Amino acid sequence: MNAPVASNLPVVTRFAPSPNGPLHLGHAYSAIVGHDLATNAGGRFLLRIEDIDGARSRGELADEYRRDLDWLGLEWEEVPTQSTRLSAYQAAFERLKAAGLVYPCRCTRADIQAAGARMGPMGPIYPGTCKRADMREDEPVQWRLDLDAAGKTAGQLEWHDAFAGEQTCDPHLLGDVVIWRRDEPASYHLAATVDDAVDGVSIVTRGRDLFEATHIHRLLQALLDLPTPAYHHHALVLDEDGQKLSKQRGSPALAARREAGEDGRVLAEQLRMQKFVLGT
Ligand code: GLU
Repeated sequence: MNAPVASNLPVVTRFAPSPNGPLHLGHAYSAIVGHDLATNAGGRFLLRIEDIDGARSRGELADEYRRDLDWLGLEWEEVPTQSTRLSAYQAAFERLKAAGLVYPCRCTRADIQAAGARMGPMGPIYPGTCKRADMREDEPVQWRLDLDAAGKTAGQLEWHDAFAGEQTCDPHLLGDVVIWRRDEPASYHLAATVDDAVDGVSIVTRGRDLFEATHIHRLLQALLDLPTPAYHHHALVLDEDGQKLSKQRGSPALAARREAGEDGRVLAEQLRMQKFVLGT
């Protein structure tokens, strides 16, 4: 795979797993795509452990992930984990808050469902209940991005995907997403966007299941004056039932294959040759 960016730019890619369950074949494919894009261009391949979700993150899994990547024959450079970067996320959040681009929200999942929220590509679209309410901040609240205000500030934006081509930014696909959480710090969207800039990532490689998240990330880049990388949303590895693999569905772990004595480098070659079913 060749890098779809100007050849004078250093190619920096990253694999950014959340340590909340064992890695499966889909993660292996994602890591290999990122690794090969970078190394074929003489660039850097980074590993970033996305442990922002303290309640669900399990530290011991990060070591297992390193063993899995090593077993697949990959080499990487590790950048700081998200739990060590909270002050950068806080600064980004304060900037959005000072610009009046976020609003406090007290809705639970059940409230959102009860309000008849429409389903979006990554979950229910927030119906805006708290945006219309006169909210006080004297109780724990979460903070949502005000897409109307943000859109006015940022204007029309574009981003580029290696497969889907030029995209006009449409953050309304996901609605007013949570940016700062009630119980934990920054949301995935804020943390990953800040990290990709801090880490100097030039091509974000990740599965197509996160395609729509990029509309929000592109908007955050504009609001926070961060650079915009190229994107490479790759196809997903599916199981025999045509379902995408997932930690939650208990898809077979790389660690189990490794511990059973399978050759990880052979598996990596099979993934490169797309021997497993790849969905769009
Ligand atoms: N941490 C995310 C996950 O494990 C990936 C985020 C990304 O690649 O932007 O699904």
